[in-house]
Amino acid sequence: MAGVAVTDTERGADGRLTVWARITLPAVCPGCGIVSERVHQYAETRPRDVRACGQDVDFCLVKRRMKCAAGDCPRKTFTESVPQVPPRCTITRRLLEQAGAEVADRGITPAEAARDAGISWHSAHGAFGEAADQVLDGQPAPVAHLGIDEHRRGRPRWRTDDLTGETVQLADRWHVCFYDLDGSQGLLGQVEGRTADDAAYWLAGATPAWRDAVQVVAIDMCAIFASAVRRMLPGAAIAVDLFHVVQLAVKTTGDVRRRAIRERYGRRGKAGDPEYGIKSLLNRNLENLSPEQFEKIIETLDASSEGQQVALAWIAKEKLRDALKLRARVTGSTPGERQVRDRLFTFYDWCAQNEGIPELRTLANTIARWENEIVTAVVTGVTNATAESLNRLAKLEARHAYGFRNPANQRRRVRIACTRGTRRPPTRTTSTTQGVTRRHHHHG
Ligand SMILES: [Zn+2]
Repeated sequence: MAGVAVTDTERGADGRLTVWARITLPAVCPGCGIVSERVHQYAETRPRDVRACGQDVDFCLVKRRMKCAAGDCPRKTFTESVPQVPPRCTITRRLLEQAGAEVADRGITPAEAARDAGISWHSAHGAFGEAADQVLDGQPAPVAHLGIDEHRRGRPRWRTDDLTGETVQLADRWHVCFYDLDGSQGLLGQVEGRTADDAAYWLAGATPAWRDAVQVVAIDMCAIFASAVRRMLPGAAIAVDLFHVVQLAVKTTGDVRRRAIRERYGRRGKAGDPEYGIKSLLNRNLENLSPEQFEKIIETLDASSEGQQVALAWIAKEKLRDALKLRARVTGSTPGERQVRDRLFTFYDWCAQNEGIPELRTLANTIARWENEIVTAVVTGVTNATAESLNRLAKLEARHAYGFRNPANQRRRVRIACTRGTRRPPTRTTSTTQGVTRRHHHHG
């Protein structure tokens, strides 16, 4: 420890080590800045310090109380100190740094770190905050592919209105999250709320150069985020998540099937209906069906005019998928924009030919509204999949810490968790950390 010299050590009958030390730095009066060598009295302090070879140590730092050398100084006496143990501190800086790094880098909770270090939860949490802020301070590096999605903070809370007896939702507990989709920065930031203004607010905080560097933004089919991106990043292309596009077409097929069954039987579908037997087959992709399963679908649907409507909707879904399947991840080569639009046209054409099915008209309208964003997703291959795995990590981290009362703390912990894989572990002397690191090896 800089500025401290060990004067004696003793191992007690129980094997516990006691270390005595003194400060070697010149004693500078905080009132006048003049070095004093006139000792007034000695004081024994026992700051909590790191372990040695995995064992707790009683650290006894003897401090001198000095008389100020300057006659006109308002401070008559002062106690010498050393940066590792600032005045009135009962924990050494290096123990706090170690505890903070344990939380930031290994993902243990402040409570666990506090128990390990033998310090209070508040001290461990404060130390983590310092470690996290060092990592998170400063502007993020430029990001070419930005992901935006929303993330619920904890469970929704409700309360009953005393006057009306109605159940109303308490504060908006959503965060909009921003992700670096192809770099190493993970979660870039979070902002509370879920409106276009909330998302725009975060983007507005970035520098113009950072905003100009964003080429593609991946979002769900969510008009709120699209409007925020168009407002704040007018130069960026928007890519919608294709998984959600397919989900929409699958849902449409289901809507047509439920309506067709109501029309045919005058009730909801139930086991025993021929259409019921192919319900799950209809949700599958064409290429994942066996020839027998395909035959069964066609036979069942062909048997009635209502079934034929379902078949037409199912074919529409497959035509939409034909356009999405052009992406390089499936074909191995980057498609041209024209190709994608041509296949989307085939899909629109099919929906128009079957205009008697209202669900297909709605689907075609929605797809047309998002056509540019779908084409961008297929051509660039940019997807929010990374964001969704980071989102899971964020939720896991939130659960791990048994919920957060303070949103700022949650954002900090989640961001630290999402960048953990890309940071280098801090360098420290092994002799002081063995006791802690060994116990938490399973976190590594
Ligand atoms: Zn002085």
